[in-house]
Amino acid sequence: MKSSLSRRILYSLVALGFALGLAWAFRASLSVWVAQKVVGQRLATELKKELSDGLHVGLCGAGSPFPDDKRTGPCTLVVAGSKMFVFDAGNAATRNLGKMGVNHGQIDAIFLTHFHSDHLDGLGELLLQRWISTGNARPVPVYGPPGVQRVVAGLREVYAQDESYRVAHHGEAIVPSSGFGGEAHPFEVTAQRNLLIYQDGGVEVRAFAVDHAPVHPAVGYRISYQGRSVVLSGDTRPSEAVREQAQGVDLLVHEALSEPLVRIIGDAALKAGRPNVKKLMSDIVDYHSSPEQAAQVAQDAQVGYLLLSHIAPPLPIPGMDKAFLGNAEAIYKGPIRVGIDGDFVSLPAGSKEILVSKRF
Ligand SMILES: [Zn+2]
Ligand SMILES: [Zn+2]
Repeated sequence: MKSSLSRRILYSLVALGFALGLAWAFRASLSVWVAQKVVGQRLATELKKELSDGLHVGLCGAGSPFPDDKRTGPCTLVVAGSKMFVFDAGNAATRNLGKMGVNHGQIDAIFLTHFHSDHLDGLGELLLQRWISTGNARPVPVYGPPGVQRVVAGLREVYAQDESYRVAHHGEAIVPSSGFGGEAHPFEVTAQRNLLIYQDGGVEVRAFAVDHAPVHPAVGYRISYQGRSVVLSGDTRPSEAVREQAQGVDLLVHEALSEPLVRIIGDAALKAGRPNVKKLMSDIVDYHSSPEQAAQVAQDAQVGYLLLSHIAPPLPIPGMDKAFLGNAEAIYKGPIRVGIDGDFVSLPAGSKEILVSKRF
């Protein structure tokens, strides 16, 4: 009995070894077969079609200028009914949107909160992919406070040579030159009241001024669709405007920076003989919000869910999320999450549900 069991195990191991050997021998053909499946699936994916009717918010970049394995430059995807928007385009925006299943050619509009480089260093790539992915004949609208015209015109110049190569190579029918670049839509807002800047397909996007001084202008956004709503704080120190605009929203995506953790970097920089970095670390604290301050805004505004984004500094060691939050969980009584790339929050139309998932 015992020996027959040992024999069966032996035969199984031999069979397994044989199968692995075969797979190894044919690994090149196997990898191509798998690649065909994956590429086919990826190209057939259409996020907008997959999602239920409602308001959906994804972090296509949950980080700040600090390098962090889980968090790239600031980027927030919003799908509302039939519309798809991107708010800010940090360094990995285009690639992360692809991982989420976004067909870049279907992006209806891009919105910028302000012109710090980390919020737009992925914009050139995004404009290019939006143009060539479906051969759009009209440039994508890029909304932002005054100054957005310079950004859009500058990128147009940077990419002008690339445009000529692509039109020459693929032809006007595939990449019509009329669709190259972006179309700037500047608007002016105050902190006192929000301004309706986009309205179509049942979706409203409102902007309001936030406090990121000395960075002027800097804005946050409120997006609503079918009774569901989200506020994006943009970069700001604790702001009365965010508190007001976020009253009762389902989701608040708020920036957050931990002063004690940033101080560790500053102190280490000083010890390492890098006073410049120490000064930068001291300066950045005063125009951002701590997790506790973001939690207080969320609590005062009675929001349904607080998703922290624009996370600074990096949190590479297990347990650091807890240190980052500090006392925030005691201040805000609702659910709170330290965002990472790929986070996805769905607010189905006609319900109160808040569904949290990962797109990658
Ligand atoms: Zn900023
Ligand atoms: Zn920033």
